[in-house]
Amino acid sequence: MKNMSQENIIEVWNAVLEVLEKQISESTFTTWILPLEPQYFDDNCFVVHTGQAFAVNLLRGNHYNQIVDAVKSVLNKELEVKIIFDEELQKKIAKKSKARAAVAEPAEQPQKPKYDSLTQMQSSNLNLKYKFENFVVGSNNKLAYVAAQTVAQKPGEKYNPLYIYGGPGLGKTHIMQAIGHYIIKNRPDLKVLFITAEEFVNDVVNALARGDEKTKNMNKFRKKYREVDVLLIDDIQLIAGKTRTEEEVFNTFNTLHGAGKQIVLTSDRTPKEIPSLSDRLISRFEWGLMADIQVPDIETRMAILSNLAKDSNIEVPNNIIEFLATVYASNIRELEGAFNRVTAYASINETPLTIDNVKTIINYNEKEKVYTFDGIVDEVASYYNISAKDIKGSSRSAKIAEARQVAIYLSRELTKQSFPAIGDFFDKKHTTILYSYDKVKEELKTNKSLSHSIDAITNQICK
Ligand code: ADP
Ligand code: MG
Repeated sequence: MKNMSQENIIEVWNAVLEVLEKQISESTFTTWILPLEPQYFDDNCFVVHTGQAFAVNLLRGNHYNQIVDAVKSVLNKELEVKIIFDEELQKKIAKKSKARAAVAEPAEQPQKPKYDSLTQMQSSNLNLKYKFENFVVGSNNKLAYVAAQTVAQKPGEKYNPLYIYGGPGLGKTHIMQAIGHYIIKNRPDLKVLFITAEEFVNDVVNALARGDEKTKNMNKFRKKYREVDVLLIDDIQLIAGKTRTEEEVFNTFNTLHGAGKQIVLTSDRTPKEIPSLSDRLISRFEWGLMADIQVPDIETRMAILSNLAKDSNIEVPNNIIEFLATVYASNIRELEGAFNRVTAYASINETPLTIDNVKTIINYNEKEKVYTFDGIVDEVASYYNISAKDIKGSSRSAKIAEARQVAIYLSRELTKQSFPAIGDFFDKKHTTILYSYDKVKEELKTNKSLSHSIDAITNQICK
């Protein structure tokens, strides 16, 4: 058969579709007509392919004349329309619809979602408070926000994994859960699971602990994590150094990623900065997109408070909002905490909110201490009876080394400065700073005398 107008066959067919769209019910049109693929036409016939075997009889039986007439109205010729079933096309469609799952037209082929939103919500571990709707976007979190939206709209397709990192209280958990909520609402066919790395570690430990049932338990564990479509792991840095957990994260990651499932991770630092994290996990965590969240600027902090004020139904004057946003500059959790104390006070006492009583409520001290690295080093040195120079030097004597680690730890805790900034001040490698910080933090859990020293030094610094 001669192929006459192949170039414009798409335009011709689009015109035919326009005519048909007006005559045929929407569901039939989208389900059966729209997926047809025009192949060629000549003086006698117009050939279209379908990937749905059933369409051949259905269209011939019920809509044949309409299609012929529509072609005629466009080409001014009465042609025989051949609807031919095409197996290749069928495979192509099957692949596509797998990826698209339930967003497809439900009308004539209702696709029952695997899960309903309520069950989904219950099994997902998500907190209702953390949605996109109440996440304030500022320049500090724009990248993470845009990436999170992309992932929520097209899970598994673009940034995989999405790795969100930043300091404490800056919205990492919030934005990660927002992805989960969005997907549960818009893609009820997908299973979402949110878990903290700590819970993941516990799960591994428990599964491994049960003597003879170990294999069974491990299988159960693996099934739980590997059958999800979207896995959200919060504070992933907590798996570092736990060999069996790292192993399970590695395997879970590979299975899910290989199957095109979405993984989202949060952490207080980049993968490379997680001490003793295996290279193979570092590289996998870096595969997708790494987005950081910074400390929000004053406008963003005020916007967050204004939103909270709206929700709380309590009149909070602007100057109070501004005051709180100025005082709590580096941690939104603390900012929110202060705000909640203030509104709780206002609702109980029915007194108007003034800067003065707000200061009392939040225990604000006029001479708010500004922590400096130098100030911290001086106090640590004097506590250990050594000089500031020793601390900044490189002696490895046990006492000086401990003092140095404590100084590094307190610098991070009190100033909230970044690890690189602390490294610059102490003139030490980034890894040394991270190592020292983590070592002290870990030790503090069990070492009473160290904890006592740190309390004493902190009291001196904050005096
Ligand atoms: P992180 O996980 O980084 O420690 P969270 O996600 O727990 O921090 O956030 C701490 C608190 O601050 C939460 O109550 C969260 O809702 C709030 N928060 C953080 N960022 C924002 C934001 N951009 N807009 C609104 N609230 C925020
Ligand atoms: Mg968190």
